[in-house]
Amino acid sequence: MKIREIKVGSALTKSGLPDAKWAVNPYVGCVFGCKYCYAAFIGRWKHPGEEWGEFVDVKINAPEILKTELEKLNKKFQNKDSGSIFFSSVTDPYQGIEAKYQITRQCLRVLADFGYKGEISILTKSPLVCRDIDIFKKFKKASVGLTITSIDDEVSQFLENNAPPVSLRLGALKELCRAGIPTYAFVGPLLPYFTARADKLEELFTELKESGVAEAYVEHINLSPKIRQRLFEYLAKTPELISYFKKAQTDEYRQELEKIIYPIAKKSGIKIIGGKILHHGK
Ligand code: SF4
Repeated sequence: MKIREIKVGSALTKSGLPDAKWAVNPYVGCVFGCKYCYAAFIGRWKHPGEEWGEFVDVKINAPEILKTELEKLNKKFQNKDSGSIFFSSVTDPYQGIEAKYQITRQCLRVLADFGYKGEISILTKSPLVCRDIDIFKKFKKASVGLTITSIDDEVSQFLENNAPPVSLRLGALKELCRAGIPTYAFVGPLLPYFTARADKLEELFTELKESGVAEAYVEHINLSPKIRQRLFEYLAKTPELISYFKKAQTDEYRQELEKIIYPIAKKSGIKIIGGKILHHGK
């Protein structure tokens, strides 16, 4: 694992996501190294020759830069809500080294001290997020999501090799709910064979309900060519799985899966955020 400290010229970027105007990515790269990660392309141009999951750049001056950017935003929006901020779009803000560097925590503190008026939304696979409950409570609008792709620790460790096991993520959701923090689950990508079937989805939504979560984003797997290449290279060691993933590329597959998911979510009482299952890329 290569960890480098870097200085950046900006901390706040336009997110390009429908539910967030801005994104803060305190790190470049992600030690969790999920095999389906859509952000892995960053490694190809920022760290040629290095494997996604084996490097992280720590943006050590991001909190300081963020403070300057917020002052500029404030002038532009004249003290009004300047939009929601998402942590993070191309890294995990609570990956292991956050315990040491605390760049995410420092950025959140800058936003809280500034009295940021927009919504703050966090998405992670790490229970380390519970460390910052004290700061989430300072915001008028803050929500925290945990990615739950299965309820089986073996599955999460097969495809999300270095991420905390999903049992710990479910525990984090419970803790956040108990602390009164608005939470959501991110059920995505829907994993062919492992999760994208009625029995597993029933179990997953039941667990989510028990954790106290009321809402979830649900997302189809993105098998765009770049993601597919990396994922299928990894799955080559279990060739019996590849056919399940190949089938997941068709509209028919997604339509059939949706017919299963909507009633299961409804029965569990969990609202699908936005009312529909997300799908990016073909
Ligand atoms: S946690 Fe998110 S950013 Fe990190 S490797 Fe996994 S999918 Fe990519």
